[in-house]
Amino acid sequence: MTRPNKRRRNMKIIGHNGPPCHRCNRPTEIREHIQVTERELAKSSYYSRWFKCTNRDCTTTMIMPAEFIVRNERGAKDDTMKVSP
Ligand SMILES: [Zn+2]
Repeated sequence: MTRPNKRRRNMKIIGHNGPPCHRCNRPTEIREHIQVTERELAKSSYYSRWFKCTNRDCTTTMIMPAEFIVRNERGAKDDTMKVSP
């Protein structure tokens, strides 16, 4: 088992009974950010919660439903709306 300790992951597993993976139908891990940092806020949106399939043979790993997208109202630099005067 190798666990990279240098890169601290801003992620916690809050449960193991997430919605079943649509590919293999196994329950998924429920994950959330430990803290919403500048890294998340720098994007125009981020996921407040997502799910990970724990089946290693399954090609679906991360399940990120649109309902958990959090849009950053302020400081969204990646705004796709470019209006030229
Ligand atoms: Zn799966």
